[in-house]
Amino acid sequence: SKTSDKLSEFLESGVYRLEDSNAVFIDPVRVLNRSYTRFRVSPSAYYSRSFDSKHAGQEARVSSNFRKRKRKEKKPQPLNDRERAADQRHQEVRPFLLKAHESLVRATELLEVVSNLKGNLGPSTSSPGAEQSLVELGRVWQAPLYEITLNFHPNDSAREDGGAPTIQYCEQRAFPVFNNLVVNETSEDVEAELLNSRYILPPESSFYMSDLGQIHNLIPAESDCGFNLIVIDPPWENGSARQKQRYSTLPNRYFLSLPVKQICHTDGALVALWVTNREKLRGFVEKELFPAWGVKYVATFFWLKVKADGSLISDLDLFHHRPYECLLLGLVHGKVTDSKQLSNTKPILPDNQIMLSIPGDYSRKPPIAGLLHEYAPRLQRGRCIELFAREMTAGWISWGNEPLHFQESRNFMKT
Ligand code: SAM
Repeated sequence: SKTSDKLSEFLESGVYRLEDSNAVFIDPVRVLNRSYTRFRVSPSAYYSRSFDSKHAGQEARVSSNFRKRKRKEKKPQPLNDRERAADQRHQEVRPFLLKAHESLVRATELLEVVSNLKGNLGPSTSSPGAEQSLVELGRVWQAPLYEITLNFHPNDSAREDGGAPTIQYCEQRAFPVFNNLVVNETSEDVEAELLNSRYILPPESSFYMSDLGQIHNLIPAESDCGFNLIVIDPPWENGSARQKQRYSTLPNRYFLSLPVKQICHTDGALVALWVTNREKLRGFVEKELFPAWGVKYVATFFWLKVKADGSLISDLDLFHHRPYECLLLGLVHGKVTDSKQLSNTKPILPDNQIMLSIPGDYSRKPPIAGLLHEYAPRLQRGRCIELFAREMTAGWISWGNEPLHFQESRNFMKT
């Protein structure tokens, strides 16, 4: 039947198009695993912070009661201008989010699978805190001396082009790990070693691990070597100092000098920027940041976070704890002579598209590379980069001060 076709497609791809709404449900583990060849992302590692435990549920209830109480105690205050603007934004998108969530609730065959996404593997085997802090490693004086060793698997480099020799045995190669583009150009996963940790690099992926101070090294020498798809998830400062930070943040002015314009391809680029729900930040992006980057705003996508039982992680209308995040999409126009022809061949970027998923680790965003790809200029041989990345993606370059973070081997299983 039609529905079970959809479900089997989901089991294959990790993406389920929901009926009657502009929404897709994503299982990040399945999406990521489409590109690995010898390893699998472990569901229990990905969903280690998932919201299905009683404890997490209670926490959410307690805090919302607390908020309600607080609200009752105070006299209802008139909203200030900024709060009114934020509320208006929320009211505009609310019907789309509700509709998407209703579609998920109606997709019973999908929900059954979703309730089991984490698998029955029990608690994650990896001990928290055991991971290596790449950010700290990059700050020590020896950092320029650290090397990462890539273990190329037999036949990985087998080439049909006749020129390059076929490698018959495991070949090891070492590269400086900081301030250097480290490339797995093979079509297989590569295991890499850095000090006492192992990392898995997906096929045709690269990383450049550095501080923001070195980002200019990404600017291509030739402008037709620039990027057509740029995903950015900046370490925005958070309003409340009470909120626990897992990484250091930067004031907004630092992002104004990101060389987005300079790394774009001459044919143009699609820029996707994750933002928080703070109204002040939205204003900054619209009025200052996008103009400074030469980006023209086009559309907004929303990531709606759900629990394993399909319910939202928090009340949709909680002012300071929305269960969704926004992805702002914009275009940097290329130097095309026949712009009419180009716009006719490109699919039009839809507004208010909604992506639902169960969140993974703190602040980890769902894998949206595949969803964005079709809207980027130069569909076929487009080049893609993620800025402030904590993981690698097949076919992409990942830049940030810890792009290997989620590539640690304890997040993977061998197939
Ligand atoms: N998109 C990522 C994910 O889904 O897991 C999360 C990115 S997180 C919001 C921001 C990242 O920027 C963190 O990994 C943080 O360490 C990094 N970062 C903070 N300050 C930086 C700096 N000065 N230079 C480079 N990266 C920095």
